[in-house]
Amino acid sequence: MIETTGLALGLRGLTKRYGAVTALEPTDLDIGAGEFLTLLGPSGSGKTTLLNLIAGYTDPSGGTIRIGDRDVTRTPARHRNIGMVFQSYALFPHMTVAQNLAYGLEARRVPKPEIARRVEAALALVQLEGYGTRGVQQMSGGQQQRVAVARALVIEPDVLLMDEPLGALDRQLRRQVQVELRRLHLKHGRTTIYVTHDQEEALVLSDRIAVMGKGRIQQLGTAAELYARPANSFIAGFIGESNLPEAKVTEVTGGMASAEVPALGLTVRAPVMPGVAPGAPARLMLRPEHLRILPDAGEGIEARIAEVIYLGELTQFGLETAGGAFLVARGMEGRGLRQGDIVRLGWSPEEVLLVPDTGP
Ligand code: ADP
Ligand code: MG
Repeated sequence: MIETTGLALGLRGLTKRYGAVTALEPTDLDIGAGEFLTLLGPSGSGKTTLLNLIAGYTDPSGGTIRIGDRDVTRTPARHRNIGMVFQSYALFPHMTVAQNLAYGLEARRVPKPEIARRVEAALALVQLEGYGTRGVQQMSGGQQQRVAVARALVIEPDVLLMDEPLGALDRQLRRQVQVELRRLHLKHGRTTIYVTHDQEEALVLSDRIAVMGKGRIQQLGTAAELYARPANSFIAGFIGESNLPEAKVTEVTGGMASAEVPALGLTVRAPVMPGVAPGAPARLMLRPEHLRILPDAGEGIEARIAEVIYLGELTQFGLETAGGAFLVARGMEGRGLRQGDIVRLGWSPEEVLLVPDTGP
């Protein structure tokens, strides 16, 4: 028996194959009640497949799906009590906002007065009070997206699924709606699985993030965990930004390794992630904010400033090392450094990390 108390959703060995293509490798995943989990990954990594399996729109090739205490692996989609929001919104275009919301409740034979009450409450939740009689085609993209969220929530789903719901919005509106969705989740508290390829979006919204690549969950953790301890070079580059020069590991002891980094022209000692071993391909994770331009000559490694980009509060430097690497550093800088200047670069050994050079 699996212990399910407090668990909203449990997947065991869930798999999907299309002929020779494996869209989803055997996947285990547990999601806690009320949790907001994001599936983050590049296009084709299996995010939509996983979501559609949970929703019941796609039949699995293997494995099981549990919602609360129910095994729903063979339950039709309409009986899974799941709310779904698509990028396309998929609203009924010739119905009013209220009719769109009422549709799922009528199908569930909810009494009329209760439907009216729940529709109003759901519209209030997404700040569209009084919009019930509007036609959906009269509404802006951002408003339609909120109607789609309200329609998914009005049925009081056990799990809310969202597949790139902000994909059709322009960048500025996306940022705003992200914050709204986060606040909305704090209000309704429903277990949510959210799909995006935008790492910033994942960081804003999520309690935990499952990074997907090549049909598998590459790593699962909080944003802070993934950022500080990425399991491999793919995740180090996908969550936040990083310089990732190649490293030849010569020795590993007690969680620390020595490695030659040709691009830096030196041997470093740094903490390691599992999988880093002599002979195995590895990279040094050197985040832009960990790379410092040193005040004194004689320390660190030499580099030439190839570009200076003002980002407002921070300045970003593109730096060329003698070993032929291009490194990015970012920080507060008041020394008037310019393109062409020769500087020294340093970092704290405990801030950098050696990661296996694996992942898609
Ligand atoms: P994502 O949502 O991360 O972009 P998908 O889950 O849509 O990725 O797709 C994962 C992989 O499965 C891709 O290689 C895609 O081409 C393949 N795939 C998805 N749906 C089908 C299908 N109906 N038939 C064949 N291959 C599919
Ligand atoms: Mg998709």
